[in-house]
Amino acid sequence: MTIYAAPGTPDSLITFKSRYEHWIGGEWVAPAKGMYFEDITPVTGKPFAEVARGAAEDIEAALDAAHKAAPAWGKASTTERARVLNAIADVIDDNREMLAVAETWDNGKAIREPLNADLPLAADHFRYFASAIRSQDGDFQEMDGTMTAYQYHEPLGVVGQIIPWNFPILMAVWKLAPALAAGNAVVLKPAEQTPVSILVLMELIGDILPPGVVNVVNGFGVEAGKPLASSNRIRKIAFTGETTTGRLILQYASANIIPATLELGGKSPNVFFSDVADHHDSFYDKAQEGFTLFAFNQGEVCTSPSRALIEKPIYDSFLGDAIERTRKAVQGNPLDTDTQVGAQASNDQLEKILSYIDIGTQEGAKLLLGGERADLGGDLSDGYYVQPTIFEGHNRMRLFQEEIFGPVVAVTSFDGYDDAISIANDTLYGLGAGVWSRNGNVAYRAGRDIQAGRVWVNNYHAYPAGAAFGGYKSSGIGRENNKLALSHYQQTKNLLVSY
Ligand code: NAD
Repeated sequence: MTIYAAPGTPDSLITFKSRYEHWIGGEWVAPAKGMYFEDITPVTGKPFAEVARGAAEDIEAALDAAHKAAPAWGKASTTERARVLNAIADVIDDNREMLAVAETWDNGKAIREPLNADLPLAADHFRYFASAIRSQDGDFQEMDGTMTAYQYHEPLGVVGQIIPWNFPILMAVWKLAPALAAGNAVVLKPAEQTPVSILVLMELIGDILPPGVVNVVNGFGVEAGKPLASSNRIRKIAFTGETTTGRLILQYASANIIPATLELGGKSPNVFFSDVADHHDSFYDKAQEGFTLFAFNQGEVCTSPSRALIEKPIYDSFLGDAIERTRKAVQGNPLDTDTQVGAQASNDQLEKILSYIDIGTQEGAKLLLGGERADLGGDLSDGYYVQPTIFEGHNRMRLFQEEIFGPVVAVTSFDGYDDAISIANDTLYGLGAGVWSRNGNVAYRAGRDIQAGRVWVNNYHAYPAGAAFGGYKSSGIGRENNKLALSHYQQTKNLLVSY
């Protein structure tokens, strides 16, 4: 067990600046309007830094810098771009603990997540796209003996990226790595709840990148995000966030006829077939652990297994074990590596989760565990903590249909394979899903029949860089990760040459 010292105390791995500016053209730039907002740590509920509050003028300045940088970066050899991406990956590895403290302080998540998952994955994503761009081939075709068609992958130029607050660094990296590998310059807007850890990362990698290739403008959605997404100076907008915001982004993009990739909300089913309980062995344990993942990362995961579907013959016993297992999840100081459930990212998010717990009770769902704000006492007593919460009900309830984005799972039973698939697919969303069965045929078929971009079969929540990720239905358009993501940041040039 390690408890990392809180920022602001003598042994801390990081001392935050009291004020963070925008990162534009390779340097810190004060906001055009001179306005700042407070960044609050969910760990204690107290402000810890001021952050530049961006507006249209700041977005324009960032776009100027990006347009200046884009031609040279786009023409840099793939070897050179790969070298830069690999160097960034090394910096993330070398500063993993410090970045993990920054991420936990900014977002509230249990530090074991950024230490063991988010940051190693972030480094690996840079390495993956460094390698992907070096191995991407163009192609050519002889036409009729007098002409050859050459197909090239060209960068789009300058792209906009807008990200949410749940995995601040990893969500930025999922977008930056393919965009930079493909030769684009970027203007990125972090979420207003969690801007600082990304700025700490920029501080570390600023010297590695040519000035203007990555620019970060902080601020709120309508003030800073909208001028970016609706600018006619970007050739693509990549967005991760709520489905309602995604609809707006698509409208802005349509006005300028630019592509948008949208990674949106989810209400992922986690389906347990009765054979998982045939033996109480390591498979059973893994399935039980798969159930409890709804509470980890505080449930602030777009693919959180927030609907559990359990087959009738094992419903009572499997759920009983899962409740006991969830009860043992360690909630505590997010900077303690033993902590499994940390703080929600903001007070608004805390309130939203508590309001859904009320809604669940009012619509007749049965509360089986949790259901309250958690008071952890001492310095943490004003932090944003919610008890892991389990409800039982039916799939037409709001608890089962609406994204809560907290450590709340809605559980129901099903009667056979067809019922499982029908309940799993009875949702507007189609981002993630889990399927658990010892029977390979059942597991495989269910994986194919569930309408979601990612189905974990007999596992849950692995995110290797090579596995394409994205949503069906209202969960989004386009894919991140995998070399497919490169094509979302490239356009095809066809050169038709006579000879
Ligand atoms: P959000 O939509 O409120 O905000 C996301 C970002 O959009 C923020 O940076 C915000 O400032 C910006 N924004 C808000 N309004 C805007 C506007 N009008 N124009 C331009 N930008 C605007 O989402 P959130 O609450 O920060 O994040 C949680 C959501 O993100 C959840 O729905 C979750 O499922 C989703 N998410 C999806 C994925 C995925 O890969 N599919 C991953 C993580 C999170």
